[in-house]
Parts: sequence; C-alpha cells; structure tokens
Amino acid sequence: MLCPLCNPINEDIIYKNDFFRVILVDEIPGYIRVITNKHLKEFSELNDEEAVKLTLAIKKIEKKMIKFLNPDKINIANLGNMVPHLHIHIIPRYKNDPWWPGATFCEKQKEFNYPPLNKKKYKEAIKSCF
Ligand SMILES: [Zn+2]
Repeated sequence: MLCPLCNPINEDIIYKNDFFRVILVDEIPGYIRVITNKHLKEFSELNDEEAVKLTLAIKKIEKKMIKFLNPDKINIANLGNMVPHLHIHIIPRYKNDPWWPGATFCEKQKEFNYPPLNKKKYKEAIKSCF
C-alpha cells in the first residue's frame, strides 16, 4: 500500500521546508499536523538536529495556537498506528468539545459548536512561526 503521507492528496499546507510540512486539518477547527517529508516510522529515527527542529516547531505552533484560539488545553500526539509515517498532531481542546476529557481519536460523545475560525488569519499566524 502506498503511504498516504509520502503521496499526499489535497493537503492544506500552511508551511513547508526541506524537512517537514505543517498542514491544517479540517476535522477539528484549528487542528494542525506536522509531517516529516522523509518516511520515518518512529521519532527516535530522527537525528538530534532534526529532533530539536521538530520539537521547536511544535512548541512554536502550540504557543501560537494558544494565543490565537484560546483553547482550554492543547493535545500533542504522535501515534502513527494507522499511518506509520512520523507525524505530530497538535489539537486545540475545549472542555465542552465532543471528546473531552478523552482523546479526539476516540468516538464522539456529543456535539459542540467550535468558536468561529478565520482560517486565512489563522494560517497566517501559524506561518509566522517560521
Ligand atoms: Zn510515508
């Protein structure tokens, strides 16, 4: 099977460099995914320099996400069980969201009206991290 992250279709790319790309995921307003360009299975396959670069990128995005969206919590996850290509989920969480306090990868417990998101401004804000 072709890796969907090595062969992406219709990604909403906010920022890209020679090491990773940052995309906006429509499933949850404000949801960001950072994907390495190289097909790696585990975080520990990064060299030290890459690990620092990726970690700092995640930290910057989280900070900007808090400032822009003012969520109750940020969830950062590295799963890759379904798609074993290193990618980090950065997800804004609200105490009334459909999964709270569980993970957003679980079944929805209820509906929730997310705060309105100006996608264009949000993407510009995230892009300004780099
Ligand atoms: Zn891949």
